[in-house]
Amino acid sequence: MRLILPRPLASKIIGGLREDEEVCGFLLGLEGEDFRVLDVVFARNELHSPTSFRINPREVLEIMERAEGRGLQLVGIFHSHLHCPPIPSPDDLRGMELWNVPWLITDGREMRAWILKDGKVVEAELSLE
Ligand SMILES: [Zn+2]
Repeated sequence: MRLILPRPLASKIIGGLREDEEVCGFLLGLEGEDFRVLDVVFARNELHSPTSFRINPREVLEIMERAEGRGLQLVGIFHSHLHCPPIPSPDDLRGMELWNVPWLITDGREMRAWILKDGKVVEAELSLE
């Protein structure tokens, strides 16, 4: 299982990073043998926090409905870390239990992807294409 991310979309994530709060959003695409990202959609971090993020459920619903209308699936969730490496935090782990798709985390320097497998966090292979 790989998370395949086109470079222009990786650049879009990096281009949207902020220094005052974590940014977050959804990776949309197609899930088959791999998770192939075809679009990146930023969401509002309603906590405006440099150490955590939360997306309003209404915004989640709107983004998912628009994705469905375009024939795209949720293939991942992304967010940034400002002061720690791109490794899931305890809060992230709770989120990963709810959203069992790859979680892409970046600190602006590196990008890593994680997924829960049998209740354990494992690193997913990230392919930039
Ligand atoms: Zn995090």
